[in-house]
Amino acid sequence: MTATEKKAAAIVAVLPVGRDNAITIGQLRVELHKRTGIWLGDSTVRAYVHRLQEAGVKVLSSPRAGGVWLAEDEQETMDVLEELRAQVHAVERRMQLINGGRCALASCRAELTETTLNRGGLYCCQGHRYQAAAERAS
Ligand SMILES: [Zn+2]
Repeated sequence: MTATEKKAAAIVAVLPVGRDNAITIGQLRVELHKRTGIWLGDSTVRAYVHRLQEAGVKVLSSPRAGGVWLAEDEQETMDVLEELRAQVHAVERRMQLINGGRCALASCRAELTETTLNRGGLYCCQGHRYQAAAERAS
C-alpha cells in the first residue's frame, strides 16, 4: 500500500456513516490526526474525498447536512443527488438571467428561441456550445 493509499484508507476509517453523523472537513482533519497522527490541510482532505468518490466510495457532502459522511444507504445518495440537481438548476437560472436571452458565444449573441430558453440552454445551437467550450479551453 502506498502512502497515498494509506491516507485514503485512514480517511475512510475516520468518516462517519450516515447523514446525521456528518462532520466538517476541519473535524475530519482533527479526527484523522487523533487516530493516526497524520496532519493534512483542508484542501488536501478535500482532494482525498474527491479521489475516493472517483474510486466509487460513497462519500457524500452537503452544506445542509453540514459536512461529509459515508452513505448509510441508497436513499441518502439519492437525496444528495437531488440537492445537487437543485443547485445546478439555480445556477442555470442565474446564468440565463445574466445571459439575457442571447447565445452565450461572444461572436454570435443571436436571440435564443423559446424552446432553448425553456430547457435552460445558453447557446443557439450545439455547434456554438462546442465552439465556446473550445475557445475557453484554448
Ligand atoms: Zn450562437
